Amino acid sequence: MLTLDFHPVGRHFLQIPGPSPVPDRILRAIGLPTIDHRGPEFAVLGLKCLTGIRAIFKTRHPVVIYPASGTGAWEAALVNTMSPGDHILMYETGQFAALWEKLARRLGLEPEIVEWRGQDSDLPASPGWRHGVQAGLIEERLRADTGHRLKAVCVVHNETSTGVTSDIAAVRKAMDAAGHPALLIVDSISGLASADFRHDEWGVDVTISGSQKGLMLPPGLSFNAVSPKALDVAKTAKLPKSFWAWDEMLEMNKTGYFPYTPSTNLLYGLSEALDMLAEEGLETVFARHRRWSAGVRGAVNAWGLPVQCADAALHSPILTGVIVPAGVDADVLRKTILERFDLSLGAGLGKVKGRMFRIGHLGNSNDLTLLATLAGCEMGLRLAGVNLAGSGVGSAMDYFAAHPMPNKKAA
Ligand code: PLP
Repeated sequence: MLTLDFHPVGRHFLQIPGPSPVPDRILRAIGLPTIDHRGPEFAVLGLKCLTGIRAIFKTRHPVVIYPASGTGAWEAALVNTMSPGDHILMYETGQFAALWEKLARRLGLEPEIVEWRGQDSDLPASPGWRHGVQAGLIEERLRADTGHRLKAVCVVHNETSTGVTSDIAAVRKAMDAAGHPALLIVDSISGLASADFRHDEWGVDVTISGSQKGLMLPPGLSFNAVSPKALDVAKTAKLPKSFWAWDEMLEMNKTGYFPYTPSTNLLYGLSEALDMLAEEGLETVFARHRRWSAGVRGAVNAWGLPVQCADAALHSPILTGVIVPAGVDADVLRKTILERFDLSLGAGLGKVKGRMFRIGHLGNSNDLTLLATLAGCEMGLRLAGVNLAGSGVGSAMDYFAAHPMPNKKAA
C-alpha cells in the first residue's frame, strides 16, 4: 500500500492562490458514487451544471465545460476561433499572461505583446507586473491596425502571479472606440466567482476559467463561455481541434450530455458549488473576498513591506503579492514557513521568482484561517531576520473585528 506520510498533526494551511481549500460540503458531494454518463440520471446533473454555470459568468450564452485544467481552456479558446498564422494582441500583466502567449506561439499564432508603460518606483519586482491593463495602449494599437490584421485581444482578468486585476469593461470600451472587430478573449481562471465578472455586459467573446479557484473545487474542470460572435467566428477558424471542438460539445450539451467521458464526480462538486454560491449570493461572495483582501493588505502594510500590486484600486480580492526585502529569498522563506508551520504560500513566478510570495484568500477560508496564515508569515519573516515595522496579525485582527463579514442583505 502507498503510504502518504506527509500529513502532520492538524489541518494543513493551503493558502496558495489556487487550488483553493475545498469546502467539506463539496468534498462530500464529490464522494457520491460515479454514475453512467450516458444514463438517464446523468442528464439531470449535466443540465444543472451547464445551465447554472451561466449565472456565474453572467451570461445567457453557452458555457463549455472541459475535463481539463485551465491551460486546456486557454488552448480551446484559441483553437476554436483562430487560424494558423493569425495575429493576436496579448497584454503581459504577469507570468500567466506570458505563459498564455507561449501557448499561442506553439499553436502557430503570431502574438504581439503589449506591456505597461510608465514610471514606477525602483522596486525590483518587475514594474510592468505591478499594474493592470492600460486600455489606452490597446486602443492605440487597434487604431493603427487599419487592415484589421489582429484577430483577438487577449487579457487576464485577475493575474494570479501578481495579485493585480484588470478593468475588462475598459478594454471593451477601448476596442469599441477603435472600431476594431477583433475578438475579446479573457482569462478569468482565478477571478471567476471571487471577483465580479460580467461576460455579456462587458462584451467578452470568450471567457476562460477553471474549477480550482473561486469555484472552490479541486483542479480538473475548465470552462469557455462563448459569445454568439465567437461561435460565428468558430465556423471558419482553421486551427486543428478535436477534443476542444465547441461544435460537437455544444450539440451534445443541449440534452445534458458530453461527447466523451466527463468528470462526473467533479460535476457533482460543481453542482454543490453552484448551490453554495447561490445561497450566499454572488455579490456577497465578492464583498467577502474584498474584505479579506483589505485585511491582508493592511497586514502587509503593517509589516512595512510593499504589496506587488502598485495600484490599490486594482488589488486582487483573491490574493496578495508580498515583496520581500532585498537580501531575503522569498522561496527560502516559504520553505521555512512550510516546514515549521505547515502553511503553503504561493511562489513568485517568472520574473519575480524569489522576490515575492503570494497569500491566497479564496476558497474555504475564514477570518481565523487568514489570521493564522498571517501569523505563519509573520513568524517566518521574523525567522528570516526581517525587521518588521509592526504586527500584521494585529492589524488584520483590528480590521476584521471592525468590519463584520458581509451578509446577503448588506452586500
Ligand atoms: N491563468 C491563470 C490566471 C492562472 O491562475 C492559471 C493557474 O493558476 C492558469 C492560467 C493555468 O491554469 P492551470 O494551471 O489550471 O492549467
